[in-house]
Amino acid sequence: MIINSINAQFTHQDTLRGSNGPGRDWWDVMTYKIDVTPDFDTKSIIGSTEITFKVTKQPKNMMMQIDLQKPLSIDNVSLDGKKISKIKREGNVYWINLEKKKFNISGSGGMEQVYKLSISYHGNPVVAKRPPWDGGWIFTKDVKGRPWMSVACQGLGASAWYPCKDYQADEPDFGALVTMKVPDTLVAVSNGKLVSDKTENNMRKEVWGITNPINNYNIIPYIGKYVNWKETYEGEKGKLECDYWVLDYNLEKAKEQFKQVPMMLKAFEHWFGPYPFYEDGYKLIEAPHLGMEHQSAVAYGNGFKNGYRGRDLSGSAAGWGLKWDFIIVHESGHEWFANNITTVDIADMWVHEGFTNYSETLFTEYYYGKEAGSDYCIGTRKLIENDKPIVGPYGVNKEGSSDMYYKGGNMLHTIRQVINDDEKFRAILRGLNSKFYHSVVTTNQIESYMSEQSGKDLSKIFDQYLRTTKIPELEYKYTGDNMYYRWSNCVQGFNMPVKLDGIDDWLKATTEWKTVAVTAGILKDGLKIDRNFYITVKKIE
Ligand SMILES: [Zn+2]
Repeated sequence: MIINSINAQFTHQDTLRGSNGPGRDWWDVMTYKIDVTPDFDTKSIIGSTEITFKVTKQPKNMMMQIDLQKPLSIDNVSLDGKKISKIKREGNVYWINLEKKKFNISGSGGMEQVYKLSISYHGNPVVAKRPPWDGGWIFTKDVKGRPWMSVACQGLGASAWYPCKDYQADEPDFGALVTMKVPDTLVAVSNGKLVSDKTENNMRKEVWGITNPINNYNIIPYIGKYVNWKETYEGEKGKLECDYWVLDYNLEKAKEQFKQVPMMLKAFEHWFGPYPFYEDGYKLIEAPHLGMEHQSAVAYGNGFKNGYRGRDLSGSAAGWGLKWDFIIVHESGHEWFANNITTVDIADMWVHEGFTNYSETLFTEYYYGKEAGSDYCIGTRKLIENDKPIVGPYGVNKEGSSDMYYKGGNMLHTIRQVINDDEKFRAILRGLNSKFYHSVVTTNQIESYMSEQSGKDLSKIFDQYLRTTKIPELEYKYTGDNMYYRWSNCVQGFNMPVKLDGIDDWLKATTEWKTVAVTAGILKDGLKIDRNFYITVKKIE
């Protein structure tokens, strides 16, 4: 509703990047095969990408959109081994003219007929200035002065380093293969599992394979003086291989800190269901930035300390946020919400960040009890800005407010109170992860599912917290022995019931004045609502 009025500021490039346009909507990525050779000294890369795809409908004008951001450039393109000469660049997009190519149309299920687009490219990729927030390649050195390279590209997009369909709704259904060629003094790690490792002429070639669907921005090379150790986690779906990679001089500190990984897995499998990528294993990899949810290869840069860079984000008196490592908990939480369940459009990114923010509360609760979890969640409210709506504009690769984190988490906490049945709430969280297993979704699908499964119409609550910046206010006033109450500062028809503090008594408030007798004594000294609801309360004199 508020959204469309600001669309005017977006460019054609934003639309090409953020929407399922005519160069994208007829083909479906099956696999990516990415080869990359970085050169640390010149901050450049040479690479190739092979995209296996199927065709789901006849292309309108035989144009295929491939994204590759400047200053990288494509050298050659071929389709099933046949070179394509008609290629046109439009900013960060290449138009591949397929002319008279005849395609067989596949159904949505199988992979009856696939085609292979091979692209070679080279150049200087965008270098990240302040990763992970502004993305790009990272060419840095470890504290011993040795090369350390990686990529962080959420938001910016994977097309900052390899040619692809840079559109979140199209994940490669059958995974990806990443080949990195690096000097043999270094180690290269990526998502999934190691397929091969060969050294020839002082160059080391490491191939990593991912079997599950994966977001483009999650496919990441990590190159440096890594060492590793492994353990097996006995989880809900059997044996999960956990593999840890850190710089050689951090091994001892890491072995201590990463003991929190099995704790995290235990808590999150309880709340969310089985880890979604058993086949690809779980990895935690030291990164030259704070952290990122790279699927089966979570980036870690929190200094082997608890908290968020040593701070408790909730500011709770008991310091709940200092009991655990924020990056291990938060970024791994994304394996369920962001990597397993991915949004079609980043306008709906609260589904990633709101639930993952709430995973911090659930982790705290799992180990320190329900009140501790509530303290943590409520403590983060002071970080909410209410600057703009959480849901952003669609089709232009633009997120909404960063309130998607703390306000998203507090909205879920509030909804949990309304559901008023923790086992049902947990079943909904687990149900989301099985219903939308390895899928892309819209916020509407998530909202409907939660309403259906809870048996409560939560639509006005979602509208209120996701689509406006207003915090609902419960107004009340006294007349004689009666108290009157109603919602204000809210969307039309807002009807969230709220629980009184300390007793199991509810007010079924709407935007119309309702009345309740105060003779019971409870309401005599003013109205106190359970602190777990993210609302304001105001007495009208
Ligand atoms: Zn996050």
